[in-house]
Amino acid sequence: MKDKIIDGKYHSNQVLEDVARQVATIKSEGKRVPCLVVILVGEDPASQVYVRNKKNACDKVGVSSVEYKLPQETTQQELEDLIHKLNQDITVDGILVQMPLPQHIDAQYILDKIDYHKDVDGFHKYNVGALATNSLLVAPCTPHGVMYLLDSLGVNYAGKHAVIVGASNIVGRPMGLELLNRGATITICHSKTIDLASHTRRADILVVAVGRANIITGDMLQQGAIVIDVGINRLASGKLVGDVDFASCEPVASHITPVPGGVGPMTIAMLLQNTLTCYKLSI
Ligand code: NAD
Repeated sequence: MKDKIIDGKYHSNQVLEDVARQVATIKSEGKRVPCLVVILVGEDPASQVYVRNKKNACDKVGVSSVEYKLPQETTQQELEDLIHKLNQDITVDGILVQMPLPQHIDAQYILDKIDYHKDVDGFHKYNVGALATNSLLVAPCTPHGVMYLLDSLGVNYAGKHAVIVGASNIVGRPMGLELLNRGATITICHSKTIDLASHTRRADILVVAVGRANIITGDMLQQGAIVIDVGINRLASGKLVGDVDFASCEPVASHITPVPGGVGPMTIAMLLQNTLTCYKLSI
């Protein structure tokens, strides 16, 4: 019987060690190592932390990383020009534009300017289309990290009902597609869904990505459900919590992810794995 509490830190380390081994082999063959470029526009404090974490992860596995820190007033054209230059640069394998972008920049327009072979976040419309047609090229990091965790439990998706709460482009929607591609029957709930509990109670697998603490409580679960909490919320006390009320859900669930230490570490591990995938596409 697998542990009830899914250890994202352990699994992310497994992925990172595998990437590090592959990068070491590339290096030992005298080849150029994979290179990830991260672009940060503005000074959002959370984004600065995410960018730092990404750089640390690159260092850990031997992937080379370059950061562009651009001022808040950077124009869309300037950002587009930089992306164009990086698209042409054969020593750059992955390009990540840290979200959110300032209001005056159209985020999807910018994401679609990245060469989709260098789209390590998997947000380019071609990569979204590839996922939607079950011909995956580069998968969005967070949903792919969730799939890794579910796979580690040996989940057989066929015949399972997976309920996703949240329908964003970066988590909820691609999460639904990943689960659908693997044979699950899916329901995607969002802010306009009526009677959320009537859906979540029918979930064999429940993935929650809303951004609201305690939106899911134990009485909203089916006995034995697998519960994956993607949410990250900072309480007034400074404590970091997910969207799932862990205390009431843990006794009902068969498996559950904690926050922190669940999905979060997987996202960054998948980013490094995607960088390696993009590198392989380029050689
Ligand atoms: P988002 O704001 O873009 O989307 C939230 C979704 O929740 C929307 O589809 C909205 O319709 C839905 N929603 C809002 N209220 C609802 C309600 N009452 N009932 C049902 N659905 C409702 O958010 P996002 O970018 O998808 O992120 C969601 C959460 O996941 C956030 O807490 C974010 O910080 C976290 N997140 C974590 C990781 C990670 O690596 N662990 C990665 C990305 C996002």
